[in-house]
Amino acid sequence: QSKPIQIKVVLLGEAAVGKSSLVLRFVNDEFQENKEPTIGAAFLTQKVRLDDAVLKLDIWDTAGQERFHSLAPMYYRNAQAAVVVYDITRESSLDRAKSWIKELQRQANPNIVIALVGNKLDLAGTPEPTESAATGESDAADEGSEEGEEETDETRAASEGIGRQVATATARAYADEAGLLFLETSAKSGEGVVETFTEIAKKLDLN
Ligand code: GDP
Ligand code: MG
Repeated sequence: QSKPIQIKVVLLGEAAVGKSSLVLRFVNDEFQENKEPTIGAAFLTQKVRLDDAVLKLDIWDTAGQERFHSLAPMYYRNAQAAVVVYDITRESSLDRAKSWIKELQRQANPNIVIALVGNKLDLAGTPEPTESAATGESDAADEGSEEGEEETDETRAASEGIGRQVATATARAYADEAGLLFLETSAKSGEGVVETFTEIAKKLDLN
């Protein structure tokens, strides 16, 4: 039995997009509603089992790069993979993610595997607008469901105006163009979290 292959993974992205929450979900399978912000950087490890290999991921969760940007290269230097996170309910966080990706493509290991991850999928709320919604055509089924319904996380998110701001197709098109893995996740529900790290491991395994 050979030793697990050790892989350095760095998490980058605007503050409060859920980087620490994603790592916590992946490593401990837990979620904290009001997580205290990371100070500096946190380091955690988790194994990923593939059919023919076990990878040990050394995960660097960064924070404070807006104020201490000069420290960022220290975290992504020698990283074989990067998870660049945005928040699907905050459009500006995708712009920040794109600027991290440009920096990685210029300065990091040229073979680095980059995953673009849209987090907080549980707050997406109502499905993305369709053609008929955009043109103002009414849909009887939709109208019927608006009143007398119990408040769920989704309806609450919608009424608080949280909802999705970044369409899946927009982010995916950018990721395809830039040669990145692309996934949407919820650290809260766990959706897509293990898949993110497994997809990275699979792509690394081929290199
Ligand atoms: P970081 O600054 O990028 O590390 O973000 P944190 O992990 O500290 O998360 C910031 C806030 O967003 C915290 O209050 C989290 O509980 C919340 N959060 C993180 N991920 C999710 C998610 O997938 N869904 C929801 N609803 N909230 C999340
Ligand atoms: Mg954090």
